[in-house]
Amino acid sequence: MIVIMDVHATEKDLERLNERIRELGYTPHTIRGDDRLVVGITGNTGTEGRMHLEGLPGVLQVIRITKPYKLASRETKPENSVVDVGGVKFGDGNLVVCAGPCAVETREQTIRIAKIVADRGAHLLRGGAFKPRTSPYAFQGLGEKGLEILAEAREITGLPLVTEVVDPGTVTLVGQYADMLQIGTRNMQNFSLLREVGKLGKPVLMKRGMSATLEETLMSAEYLMSHGAHDVVVCERGVRTFTSHARNTLDVSVIPAFKKLSHLPIIVDPSHASGSRETVIPLALAGIGAGADGLLVDVHDDPDHALVDGPQALLPDGFQDLMDVAARVSTALGKSIASHRPAVAERA
Ligand code: PEP
Ligand code: MN
Repeated sequence: MIVIMDVHATEKDLERLNERIRELGYTPHTIRGDDRLVVGITGNTGTEGRMHLEGLPGVLQVIRITKPYKLASRETKPENSVVDVGGVKFGDGNLVVCAGPCAVETREQTIRIAKIVADRGAHLLRGGAFKPRTSPYAFQGLGEKGLEILAEAREITGLPLVTEVVDPGTVTLVGQYADMLQIGTRNMQNFSLLREVGKLGKPVLMKRGMSATLEETLMSAEYLMSHGAHDVVVCERGVRTFTSHARNTLDVSVIPAFKKLSHLPIIVDPSHASGSRETVIPLALAGIGAGADGLLVDVHDDPDHALVDGPQALLPDGFQDLMDVAARVSTALGKSIASHRPAVAERA
């Protein structure tokens, strides 16, 4: 259920309503839209309790949300949500580019690549300190040391950080460093991880599971939101198909379908979809064309020696080419590449 508040409702009305919702054993979530204030209710299974809310001061209407995902649904919030990460805005109509190495390998490598992507116009720095690897023998990431390196790279470039968290036990640690926590494709349905990340309340970049349906993806976003993380950005990174010419198949069709059902921003990761550098730019453009709010891109200046995913990393010049052509395509679509890059001092 959602409660739509009257335009003249006061903070006191809102407090009283939230109190009543809690008395009923449910959880209220305040959602401030452009021209209306809505309180989403989770924890209920139907419309029971509705009559206890309808007569309260400031309450205009109590509506049942038909979708199984409530807080992520456009029924709850018709206008697009804007997710602010250290001053960078996802979903405001412009294109946000997150770029950096797949993994933090060394301090020098990370700072070098962070400067390369910052100089070429990236808005967020990506890079994994905790890596979910298929092989237990492969490089697993530098852990906390990697987070310290990322924080130093942020200090130098002013770029906010998005970095992956792979298990519930390190959510607090990763949250101390990251501006945005990434949930990887393999963990999209790790519900205990989603709960812990949700409780932290920081912005989240949640990658679509490699075999997840749109509804499953929205239900995972709902886990995050219902536990307290309302600033969720979803990332399409390719799904598993019979294809052998690419690492995955970038499902561009999910972007308009997602936007129809949800108010949350959605970006694409052409690097993990493609698996090879040559096809990253065309996939990125396909994603932008389909309406994506941003890109997540692997960049490396020495990909032959990269510890993770070298073949799909764009070289610095390739990243520059991507930024140039993405800017042109965005302009043609009436968007621009977000230019606001917060200064270090402004973010302190
Ligand atoms: C990543 O972006 O570093 C990553 C591991 O991607 P995915 O979870 O999509 O495989
Ligand atoms: Mn990778």
